Amino acid sequence: MSSFAFSVLFVVFLAITLIVRFWLSSRQIRHVLSHRSAVPAEFAEKIPLAAHQRAADYTVAKTKFGMFSMLLSAAVLIGFTLLGGLQLLSNIIFSWAGPGMVYQLGLLVAFGAISGLIDLPLDYYKQFVLEARFGFNKMSVKLFFMDMLKNTLIGAAIGLPLVWVVLLLMAKSGDLWWFYAWLVFSGFQLLMLVLYPTVIAPLFNKFTPLSDDTLRDRIESLMKRVGFASKGLFVMDGSKRSAHGNAYFSGFGASKRIVFFDTLLARLAPHEIEAVLAHELGHFKLKHIVKRIAVMFAISLAFLALLGYLKQQLWFYTGLGVNPLLLADLSNNDAMALILFMLALPIFTFLLSPLSSISSRKHEFEADAFAVKHTNGNDLVTALVKLYEDNASTLTPDPLHSAFYDSHPPAAVRINRLLAAHG
Ligand SMILES: [Zn+2]
Repeated sequence: MSSFAFSVLFVVFLAITLIVRFWLSSRQIRHVLSHRSAVPAEFAEKIPLAAHQRAADYTVAKTKFGMFSMLLSAAVLIGFTLLGGLQLLSNIIFSWAGPGMVYQLGLLVAFGAISGLIDLPLDYYKQFVLEARFGFNKMSVKLFFMDMLKNTLIGAAIGLPLVWVVLLLMAKSGDLWWFYAWLVFSGFQLLMLVLYPTVIAPLFNKFTPLSDDTLRDRIESLMKRVGFASKGLFVMDGSKRSAHGNAYFSGFGASKRIVFFDTLLARLAPHEIEAVLAHELGHFKLKHIVKRIAVMFAISLAFLALLGYLKQQLWFYTGLGVNPLLLADLSNNDAMALILFMLALPIFTFLLSPLSSISSRKHEFEADAFAVKHTNGNDLVTALVKLYEDNASTLTPDPLHSAFYDSHPPAAVRINRLLAAHG
């Protein structure tokens, strides 16, 4: 492929991505606004008009913000690539470090730092303007910056050694480097599944064992019924940051644990919490989590193999606005190849994203069916209605927008199916 042809392909895919995303967003805004004046019939008894309109306004505000972020990241992408931003950054670091590992790590760190600084005002706006306007922000400015500092330090402590190993493999382990890198990467992901709940998450939140005896008895009997063993039931002080409620479950093997946000416990009755948990246990018992991990491993193997090919192609660099250093040995450009790949890949895979949404929605239906089988289906319905209302999730999404992006089925579809199954 010629460098020019690849540039054209890149711009065409970027344009398609932007056009499709803007089209879907504007459909979503129009659809939500046109249903703003009345609560949909099936929810009329359950959700007040004011809550419905708050959800509509929140959805529209978030979608508009998403459109702005999209435009900004497209501009940043073009700036880094075709307009020469990465080339300039590389020149500066190379003139200071010369060829070698210091240059490569320096380039990755500088790129990460610049990207982080560009995202910072957006994150700040999202938390302190958008979320705050709808009463969701519970975070102080100090906590926001403390979190950022912690994230940066943890990211560096974990990310730098990982990247260093990958760069070493790229440079020294021959044509199959991508396969070894995949082994390292997969092992790292499994390690994170254990480290995240036990070491990293506690740096940000307090986890206390669930102390409510009645609730614990209920949950333990549910776990026994479905045959699930867990290390523990924890309550997390999610209210420190946000009013959004959630329950999740993390770790695997011996480190499995169930975590409830305090915001969720405060809002749902014990039998509703049991139904929500039954849904989560459904994901586990039906092997959704293992399947997701297996798919992720397969996809990352394919992508790393692709990168193994691309990093040897001159057009891959020049087509994205970079003149590789020291052409005699392209491995001086491994860090650049990683960055270009991370930047360009989402543009070329965007149109495939509905595949992941479809599979995720299928899993949600299956987990709902599991919950209905092991608990009272009506409890899951009332719990979901409360959560939709509290989280200001729209009940009237645009069907196409939802089909493309949503990991969960639209509220009405999901609840109708639960009610039908419950009988
Ligand atoms: Zn689910």
